[in-house]
Amino acid sequence: MVKKIELNKRQETILQIVKDNGPITGEHIAEKLNLTRATLRPDLAILTMAGYLDARPRVGYFYTGKSSAQLLTESLKNIFVKDYQSMPVVVNENISVYDAIVTVFLEDVGTLFVVDENLLLVGVLSRKDLLRASIGKQELSSLPVNIIMTRMPNITMCKKDDLLIDVAKKLIEKQIDSIPVVKETTTNGYEVIGRITKTNITKAFVALADEDL
Ligand code: ADP
Repeated sequence: MVKKIELNKRQETILQIVKDNGPITGEHIAEKLNLTRATLRPDLAILTMAGYLDARPRVGYFYTGKSSAQLLTESLKNIFVKDYQSMPVVVNENISVYDAIVTVFLEDVGTLFVVDENLLLVGVLSRKDLLRASIGKQELSSLPVNIIMTRMPNITMCKKDDLLIDVAKKLIEKQIDSIPVVKETTTNGYEVIGRITKTNITKAFVALADEDL
């Protein structure tokens, strides 16, 4: 497509910045030029209307010469665990398998995170862990979950600032349904502050489609 609009010097500069750094927010472009966002707004509007640039929510401005595969990769680099994490359900390591099963139903989750008396992560309980214990001969109300859980240090964890795509890869690689979002404490323990499940990944996937690539 032949671009008919003649660009002024500042618009040329903006275009170059976006080509080199995009996707980039209006704020960051303004920072690089030592101008305010408001000053740039008309130039960005012209560049967008003329088809040189496009803008997407949460991503920013990008050069339209990029392929949609490049754009998808760039979007994925902007989706973090903190954008999609949900509330974790934690139980104490001394509760019984029976009570853990009741918790799974009450809280409507597939995975429970097990913590010690200091609320630090010590284990994970999946539905199958609980089923396995249930087909044994043990008395479920006197069997503590810490006997049957998957325990530290074999827990796959993530942080709120990790990229969601990296956590999705871990779910596949480890063949698990859920990963705790943790915060390291000063005592080298891990506090559970959230969880990422296959459902959260599916939500992100659908949101990407709605962003209209
Ligand atoms: P299910 O066993 O119900 O299909 P998962 O696939 O999530 O659920 O769990 C498979 C096994 O992996 C279970 O023994 C569980 O304790 C363990 N597991 C689940 N999540 C994690 C995790 N984040 N880190 C380490 N092990 C986990």
